[in-house]
Amino acid sequence: MTASSVPAAVPPLTGEPETLLSIRDLSVTYPTRGGDLRAIQGLDLDVQRGEVLGLVGESGSGKSTLGKAIMRLIAPPGTISGHLYFDGTDLLTLGEARMRQVRGRRISMIFQDPMTSLNPVQRLDKHIIEAIRVHEPQVTTAEALERARDLAGRLGIAPGRLSSYPHQLSGGMRQRIMIELALALRANLIVADEPTTALDVIVEAQFLELLRELRREFGLTLLLITHNIGIIAELADRVAVMYAGNIVEIGAVETVFRAPKHPYTQGLLKSIPNLSLDAADQTLYRMDGSPPNLIAPPTGCRFHPRCPAFMPGLCDVRVPKLEPVVTDDGSRQLAACWLHQSH
Ligand code: SF4
Repeated sequence: MTASSVPAAVPPLTGEPETLLSIRDLSVTYPTRGGDLRAIQGLDLDVQRGEVLGLVGESGSGKSTLGKAIMRLIAPPGTISGHLYFDGTDLLTLGEARMRQVRGRRISMIFQDPMTSLNPVQRLDKHIIEAIRVHEPQVTTAEALERARDLAGRLGIAPGRLSSYPHQLSGGMRQRIMIELALALRANLIVADEPTTALDVIVEAQFLELLRELRREFGLTLLLITHNIGIIAELADRVAVMYAGNIVEIGAVETVFRAPKHPYTQGLLKSIPNLSLDAADQTLYRMDGSPPNLIAPPTGCRFHPRCPAFMPGLCDVRVPKLEPVVTDDGSRQLAACWLHQSH
């Protein structure tokens, strides 16, 4: 299938950007003793080439599962269904050998703890050279080393550091190595899952600045998965809000944060503390209830048991779809909520 024949369930946000990843009707299910746990159900999402798309939501909303599903790293007995069109090819139709060529080379994933991706008994330069040569066998060891050193310099990694083992580096430096690996392989899409959670605030700020520079220089396409709304505000172009295995709102960061349409997004944003001095005696908003059990989720809108705007007979019966909503600045924003749809 070609990119142009990908069904447009979630149209692009503005203009005519090029879509790099089109996710359609994606579901991830884990069989459990209590029944099937649907971690993601019927999710649609587009990632445009060159954009930073932030993915936020509470723990258990399915954000990390989505990242792993894109990499096809859902371990059995978990199953994936639907479509993952990457550059026009449905990744879910590829055999494991072809998927291995995509993983790392075309799509890279940066995890919260880089130690899980680095070989503890291999020097970093050897690891990077090996990764380059696995995907590009025509590149000589000397050329791969030169590429690794060149990138290290641009990422603020001292050349001598490349001859270290992973445990000899700080958390921030290990995250830089993961970025270097993705850039060395010239990945088209980087999926970063909570990349700053293990970093202290100063290293986190440096890392975010680095991502901003790299974005300018390399035109990175980044899917940034985080529970940290501040990071999304700093770095992302668009934000997608996940709840109970699906996206409930998506749009330009500035517009969604200024005027969220979905009651869940509104609650999420209200529960962030305001750190300004004028707000010292603020009372924090607390969203009632907790995320639903995904083995037996609520009927209709999955947020209805917690929603302050719940409409009985509608919200608990019919599932709202992600549809365009009216915005004050005319930008494209979608929300899955009956408050904004005819019923
Ligand atoms: Fe609330 Fe109903 Fe909208 Fe769901 S559809 S978020 S329950 S108002």
